[in-house]
Amino acid sequence: MKYLLSILLCTCLATTAPFTFAANELPALGDTTSGLISLQQEHELGRDWLRNMRSQVSTIDDPIILEWFHDLVYQLVPNSQLQSTDLELIVIDSPELNAFAVPGGVVGINFGLLLYSDDEDQLSSVLAHELAHLSQRHFARQVEAAQRRDPVALATLLASIILIATSNTDAGIAGIMGSQAAAIQNQLAYSRDFEREADRLGMKTLVASGLDANAMTGMFTNMMDASKYRGSSLEFLMTHPLTATRVADAAGRAAQYPRKPRTESFRFTVLKLIAEARYRLQDQAETEFTYRLNKATGVYRDALLFSLARLALQEEQWDKGLERLSDIKQTELLIRILNAQLLAGRDGPIAALNILRELRRIHTDSPVLDVALAEVNLEAGKKKDATLLLKRLTEDYPTTPLYWQRLSKAAQANGDLTLAYRALGEYHHYSGRTQEAVQQFQSAIREANKIKDFQREAAIQERLRVIDPA
Ligand SMILES: [Zn+2]
Repeated sequence: MKYLLSILLCTCLATTAPFTFAANELPALGDTTSGLISLQQEHELGRDWLRNMRSQVSTIDDPIILEWFHDLVYQLVPNSQLQSTDLELIVIDSPELNAFAVPGGVVGINFGLLLYSDDEDQLSSVLAHELAHLSQRHFARQVEAAQRRDPVALATLLASIILIATSNTDAGIAGIMGSQAAAIQNQLAYSRDFEREADRLGMKTLVASGLDANAMTGMFTNMMDASKYRGSSLEFLMTHPLTATRVADAAGRAAQYPRKPRTESFRFTVLKLIAEARYRLQDQAETEFTYRLNKATGVYRDALLFSLARLALQEEQWDKGLERLSDIKQTELLIRILNAQLLAGRDGPIAALNILRELRRIHTDSPVLDVALAEVNLEAGKKKDATLLLKRLTEDYPTTPLYWQRLSKAAQANGDLTLAYRALGEYHHYSGRTQEAVQQFQSAIREANKIKDFQREAAIQERLRVIDPA
C-alpha cells in the first residue's frame, strides 16, 4: 500500500500538467488506455518514485544480484504485452516476501523473495504477474474506478497529499503513510478482476518464455504456506489478495499446458544461499554451509562451494577460497571471476588481470565481470582502463547508483576530478539525495572551469538543470 501512496505523492509533485478529475469511464478489461494519467506522466512519476524509494529503504547493491535480476526480468519482457521495455529495476534489502510493479515501468523485488521460491520458474511467475499489472495499466484504471465511485474522497485525499508533500519532511511522509494509507487501501488495492487478469496474462508470458506454467500454482502454495507459518498476512498478499478462486483458476489453466522440466540453475541456487546467509544464518553461514556439503550433490553442492569461496574472499582467506573453487565441476562465468579475484588477493593483480581481460573478450555484457575487472585494473595501477570500463557500464546502465559510485572512485584515482565529482553527483541523484547531488555537480562545474574545459562545464551545467530544475 505504501508504494501506491508514494506514487500519488510523486504525482502531485512532479507533473506540470494538472491532475484532472473529469469523470472518465473505466475502460473495459483489456483496454489499456487511460485518460486520467498519460503514459509519459506515468514514466516520469515512476522514475521520481524510484529515487524517492531509494532514499528511504536500503537496497541490494551487489553486481551478481543486479545482473541476475536484470536477466530474469528481460527474459520475460519480450513475451509480455508491455509497450515500453524501458524498465527500471530495484532489489530491496528485506527478508519479507514481496514483489511490485510501479506504473512507469519500475519492477522490484525484496531480496527475501528468493527464500520463498523453489526455483527461477516460480520466481518468474510472480514477475510475469507484475509485468501484466504494468502492461494492462491497472494502476491508472484503478484510480479511475475509485474516482468514479467517490470523486470527492479522492480529491480530498490528493489535496491533503499535496499539502503534506510540499512540506517535504520525512515526518510528513511517514504520517500520511500511516494514517491515511488504511483509508484508501480498499480503493487502491488491485481488484479481483485485475488480479485474475494479471494471473492469466502472467501465465501466458511465463509459457512463452519457455518456463513452466505450473510454477505459478507452486508459488501460490508457497505464499499460502508462508502466510500460515507466519500467522500474519504477507505484504504481497495485501496488495495482491490470493483468493481460492485465483488459485483454482491458475491450477486449471496450468493443467492445459504440458509440464516442463525445471532447470536447477547454478546462479539461482547461489543467490538463494546468499539470501539465506544474509537473513537467516548470518555469522553461522560458513558452519552451516560446510555441514551441508556432506550430503550435497550436483548443482547444489557446487553452489555451496561457491558460496563458501565467496565468504572466504570477503574474509581475505585466499587459499581457502581457491581450494573450495577447485572442487567445483562447473565452468560458469561467475566461478571464473571469483577465482580471478581470489588469485588477485593471493598473488597480486597481474595474473588475475590477464584472466579477466580474456573473459571480457568473450563476455561483453556482464556487469559482474566489468566491476571485477575495473577493481583489478585499479589495483594494478591501470586507472585509465578502469575508468573507461566503468564509463561504458554507466552508459549501458545509466540509472544504477552502484556503477556511478565505482566510476567516481576510478575517475578520482585517474586524476579526472571533473568526472569523479559528476559521477558522484549521478550516484546521489539516482539514490534520491538531490541536495548531495547538486553539491557534487557544482564541484564538477568548478573543476571543469578550473582546467578550462568549458565544453564539459556547459554539459554538466545542462545536466544540473535537468536534475534540479529549481
Ligand atoms: Zn497482483
